[in-house]
This record gives sequence, structure tokens and C-alpha cells, in this order.
Amino acid sequence: MSYNIAIDGPAGAGKSTVAKLIAARKGYIYVDTGAMYRAMALHMLEKGIDLTKAEDIAAECENADISIRYEDGLQCVILNGVNVNDRIRTEEVSAAASRTSVVPEVRKKLTSLQKKLAEEQDVVMDGRDIGTKVLPNADLKIFLTAGAETRAKRRFDELTAKGEVCDLQAIQRDIEDRDMRDMTRAEAPLKQAEDAVLIDTSHMSAEEAAEEIIRLTETA
Ligand code: C5P
Repeated sequence: MSYNIAIDGPAGAGKSTVAKLIAARKGYIYVDTGAMYRAMALHMLEKGIDLTKAEDIAAECENADISIRYEDGLQCVILNGVNVNDRIRTEEVSAAASRTSVVPEVRKKLTSLQKKLAEEQDVVMDGRDIGTKVLPNADLKIFLTAGAETRAKRRFDELTAKGEVCDLQAIQRDIEDRDMRDMTRAEAPLKQAEDAVLIDTSHMSAEEAAEEIIRLTETA
């Protein structure tokens, strides 16, 4: 049986950084489910789909061929045969992903891919609905969060380090809008699973959070 760690939480809580640290320490595969939703959103943007029309998204989602591959331990998302890792981290794709991910057909397709990955190997999987929907029987469930201001500042620092000019307040507004859409959608909304351990990273480094989670894997 494979060992599965599920990490859910809002944007910017540090899920991917923490999950990568755990995966490296435990020798598990890191599965970034947000990247799959982002690839699906990129597909819709490329095809010029109107994101306010759920039926158009549902129909087009069948044509999106999404898979993941690992190169030097790094997850690469393949959309229609092309590695799109470098193209899915823009603010445009972030906003589009939180719109296309409300569509049940999109969720069904990506959820089944995620379940399959976790059946085959030991994984640390992060997202919004991992503990509640994708891996309800995960060995360990974590809900990672932080205050909206902290999360916006982290995103601001990340973009500034990449040389992008950005506005802290606009980033915080975008994060709050995205959280609202993720938490209030009908299908698989972002929420803490009943049996998840809550970790607030507002005053914690990623290393400290990873340590805490690894400790929980040893006592669980
Ligand atoms: O985690 P990340 O910010 O990359 O996710 C992008 C978007 O994908 C989220 O805002 C959310 O709408 C969607 N998502 C989801 N379910 C997941 C992972 C991501 O709906 N398991």
C-alpha cells in the first residue's frame, strides 16, 4: 500500500514549498494538483473559450490531454504533448484556473488522474480538495493556512524577486477573490477535512512546517 499525505489550503499558504521539502526528505513523489488545474485553464485560454460559459468549458475539457512527468524529481505538466510548466504561473492563468475549476467535468477528469497517481506510489499531494475528495483515506491530512496579508506579501516577494513590477494591494485582492471562489463553489470547495491537522504558517518557516508534518507521519 502506498503512503499518502494530503495537504490542502488557500493560495499562498506555502503548500508547494512545504510539500516539496517533505517529498525530498521522505523520498515521496510530490503531486501539485493546482498545476493540473492551471494547465486546463491555459488550454481554455488558448482555445479562446468564454470562461463564463460552464457548458463550453465542459465540452472543451474532453479535448485537453493533461498528464504529468517527472524530470530530475521535478513535476512537469504536459498539455497536449507540450511541457507547460513555464506558462502556467501567470496571474492570468491563476485567475482563469479558479474559474475553470468550478466546472464538474474538469474536476472529474483531473480527480481521477490524481487518484491514480496516489494509488501507484507514495505521494505528498497538495490542492484544495485532496483530504476531502481526492484522497479521503489519506494516511495524513494537513490543512495549511496563513493570514491573507502574509500570503499576499509572500506572492509579492516571489514576483519581485523574478523582476516583475507588482502592487501588493492588488495581489491581496486577487488572492482574496480566488479564495472566495474556491471556498464557495458547489463542487469540492476548499475546506478543512474533519480529520485534518490545522497548521498556520503565518509565523512559521516552510522548514518548520515541513518538520512538524514529518513528525506527524512518524507518530500517526
Ligand atoms: O494551488 P494553485 O494556486 O496552483 O491552484 C490554482 C487554482 O486551481 C486554485 O485557485 C483552485 O481554483 C484550483 N484548484 C482546485 N483544486 C485543487 C487544486 C487547485 O480547484 N485540488
